[in-house]
Amino acid sequence: MSYPNTLEGARLADQEDTLATYRDEFLFPKNKDRKVLYFTGNSLGLQPRKAREIINEELDDWARWGVDGHLEAHRPWVAYHEFFTASLAKIVGAKESEVVAMNGLTTNLHLLMVSFFQPKGKRCKILCEGKAFPSDQYALRSQLRFHGLDPETCLIELAPDPETELIDDERVIAAIDQHKDELALVMLGGVNYYTGQVFDMERITDAGKRAGAIVGWDLAHGAGNIALDLHKWGADFAAWCGYKYLNSGPGGVSGVFIHERHHGKKDIPRFEGWWGHNKEERFKMGDRFDPIPTAEAWQLSNAPVFAMAPLLASLELFDQVGMTALRSKSLKLTAYLQKVIEDAAVNSGQSVRIITPKDEKRRGCQISIAVPGKGRAVFESLSEAGVIADWREPDVIRLAPVPMYNSFEDVYEFGQLLEKFLKA
Ligand SMILES: *Cc1c(COP(=O)(O)O)cnc(C)c1O
Repeated sequence: MSYPNTLEGARLADQEDTLATYRDEFLFPKNKDRKVLYFTGNSLGLQPRKAREIINEELDDWARWGVDGHLEAHRPWVAYHEFFTASLAKIVGAKESEVVAMNGLTTNLHLLMVSFFQPKGKRCKILCEGKAFPSDQYALRSQLRFHGLDPETCLIELAPDPETELIDDERVIAAIDQHKDELALVMLGGVNYYTGQVFDMERITDAGKRAGAIVGWDLAHGAGNIALDLHKWGADFAAWCGYKYLNSGPGGVSGVFIHERHHGKKDIPRFEGWWGHNKEERFKMGDRFDPIPTAEAWQLSNAPVFAMAPLLASLELFDQVGMTALRSKSLKLTAYLQKVIEDAAVNSGQSVRIITPKDEKRRGCQISIAVPGKGRAVFESLSEAGVIADWREPDVIRLAPVPMYNSFEDVYEFGQLLEKFLKA
């Protein structure tokens, strides 16, 4: 059922939303003491109410135990990363042995490429989406140069269609087929940060594997947003950040997926550290690396407990809700956002271009819009009125109604403001 674009319609939708109470588990920023409409969970997720409590527990354990907290803390620090594994595995559709929380996203992409970008002879190219997130472009280009390769010839970037700004799945698959003897790595953002487009990861992974390439996914905008099934799809690796849809707090810890087919290999190229070493032997301080036979082998250092603690608060909520229910609400909430944007455009007579695909299978919660001629002015008025959205050059407003804490009423109120500023 679709709800009417009225205050009553939005309130009815919120009443019928079984996840509505989760909103109270988060702290919303304020704009000069007024409430804000927060639509930037795709950039920085909100603080779970319980984050502070968990950080305080770790501080208390540190005060109480000092170094002995590694074993005696109620969440022993020596195993701290393990407290994230089961929840993350569910979120990305992996076996528990295939995921680990560690480092930052770009750091992890590099560590994974050290293992999984192994150019040999003619098979030395990387295929990625054009206009990928800058950090990914820097990572890919610098990895190529690190191997003595020229990014100008070895990085195949699939340019978005100039009209739609999207990249059809069929084009990605055709490009993989076309370059099948040259591809060492296919690495794309599963959900594009700018357009919000979701790629058909299952089919692209399959095409990449058939071409004999390694397939990796950057899921910065995918984890906690859409349903993922990395193990079944057969992806080789993936990485995502914790602070967007997973609400780990600024700079919070990233997660990685490494398919079990790559576990337990001693000869795999890898940058090694003691936290990847066989746990039984770790404190014997031997000089030969014996990898843990799971994704944990890619860890370098002991876990940054305080940077990780807030993520526990958020993952508890993901465990309760589950990705199926979350995605189901997300589809309704984003369809509602599309409707209020379209109504605002019609009622104001101002054209608004929705860049994000309208097919729900090809998008997550985010909708990116462009307002020809007055995008910046509309964006500034919205910000002034307490809408926290985000602006991406040259002319895009990104809006992410996050099903964990945004309401239909938020979306309705946004639509009213948008209409007002489009008319101005
Ligand atoms: C947010 C984002 C990043 C950020 O990288 P960090 O290493 O976490 O700073 C990288 N890639 C993509 C696709 C992103 O959306």
